[in-house]
Amino acid sequence: MRIKTRLSLLFTLLVASILLVFASVIYWSSSKSREIEFYEELEKEAITKAKLFLEAQVKPTTLHKIYLNNSEIINEVEVAVYDYDFNLLYHDAVEIDRVKETKEMIHSIIQSGSLHYTQEDWQVIGMKYSFGDRNYIITATAYDEYGYTKLQNLFVTIVVLVVISLLVIYFVGLFFADKVLLPITKMNDEVNKITATNLDLRISTKKNKDELAALGDTFNEMLNRLENSFDSQKQFVSNISHELRTPLAAIIAELELALSKEQDKAYYVQTLQNALSDSQKIVRLSNSLLDFAKASYDPTEIVFKSVRVDEVIIDACQKLQRMNASYKFNFLIDESVSSEEMMIVKANPYLLEVALVNLLENACKFSEQNACTIQVLYLDYRLTIQVIDKGIGIAQEDLEHIFIPFYRGQNQNYKEGNGIGLPLTNKIINLHKGTLQVVSKVGEGTTFTIQL
Ligand code: ADP
Repeated sequence: MRIKTRLSLLFTLLVASILLVFASVIYWSSSKSREIEFYEELEKEAITKAKLFLEAQVKPTTLHKIYLNNSEIINEVEVAVYDYDFNLLYHDAVEIDRVKETKEMIHSIIQSGSLHYTQEDWQVIGMKYSFGDRNYIITATAYDEYGYTKLQNLFVTIVVLVVISLLVIYFVGLFFADKVLLPITKMNDEVNKITATNLDLRISTKKNKDELAALGDTFNEMLNRLENSFDSQKQFVSNISHELRTPLAAIIAELELALSKEQDKAYYVQTLQNALSDSQKIVRLSNSLLDFAKASYDPTEIVFKSVRVDEVIIDACQKLQRMNASYKFNFLIDESVSSEEMMIVKANPYLLEVALVNLLENACKFSEQNACTIQVLYLDYRLTIQVIDKGIGIAQEDLEHIFIPFYRGQNQNYKEGNGIGLPLTNKIINLHKGTLQVVSKVGEGTTFTIQL
């Protein structure tokens, strides 16, 4: 069921319940007051007839005649007069005799003073009446046709009014629900137009900040984030293809030139060396990309285990020394790390080593002595690894960009690279719920701080 129909139905149901209670109370109180008023009417009629019979001494035959004449036109009250010994003194219509008086009934009227009850919609009263020094019991009964007709009319009026009101409320409710939900319908149409090819489209939101406008704003912010990440993905892919194409194009060009005509041996050696260096660049890039993909996994899919940080650091240094024998590492353990247990962290050893290799390689690569210091210490109750070099440093304006994939600083001409190392390291440290910070000064050196 659509929301607007559900809202209108709920609203109508609520109003229907209120109206029903309201109508029932009105009908019940009208019915009660009709009954009370008619008992009073019966009393007056009974007294009038008793007066005619007992005080004015009107003959019973005359009273009968009046009763019969009136009965043809109106619902005449049928009156009977008894003495206290249950002797019938007068009866309007003995042949009809609607009220079957009994000795007990007369006795009960004498006891309580009066009697009121209903028999098949006919209301009955019994009362005491005194004239001279004698006491009498009068009973009277009649059908309140006028009162019942009025009550029936009231019932029909109430039913018609309730039905009409509910119909009006339902349709007015639908109209208003439609008006209230119109922005959602519009939003739906606008969202349907947004696809991967036009992620720049946004939902139009009203100036007055209601809940729907807030929803629209939140959705637009989500689209901003999606568009940014979509753009950076596109940028990433185009950077990769560019990085791969450059060394591949160089290899192809050199090999084609070597094959175009006969060359001397030295030329061929040089060509092969160039091709080898370009191929190594491609392998390094593809390895970095593979690690980047691994670090982008869902953290729940990566195995974390207890790892000794000092062992990972030594492995990273050994790996780098095998790659470049000129690299020199100075490994220090601060006295704040007082036991071996303090070196243990929950980590993925492979990824942690990749992160350290990147930092250590940069530190050696960007310093003339190809040397750096690694220090392990406890800072703010967290295991901290600092990679410190006294190299060429990073320019202030580069510092905020160096964690963006493929970004290379102004000092890039100093050594070759591909701009993947630091973003990859940052991703790995984030995956370990750690932090990576950098402090650098051009000409003085750089310190990278990992806190786990
Ligand atoms: P790459 O080293 O392959 O260029 P990285 O992502 O590892 O890529 O580093 C990005 C940039 O940050 C480098 O190009 C360089 O400009 C700067 N950088 C990183 N580490 C250092 C460092 N220890 N000293 C000086 N510059 C650095």
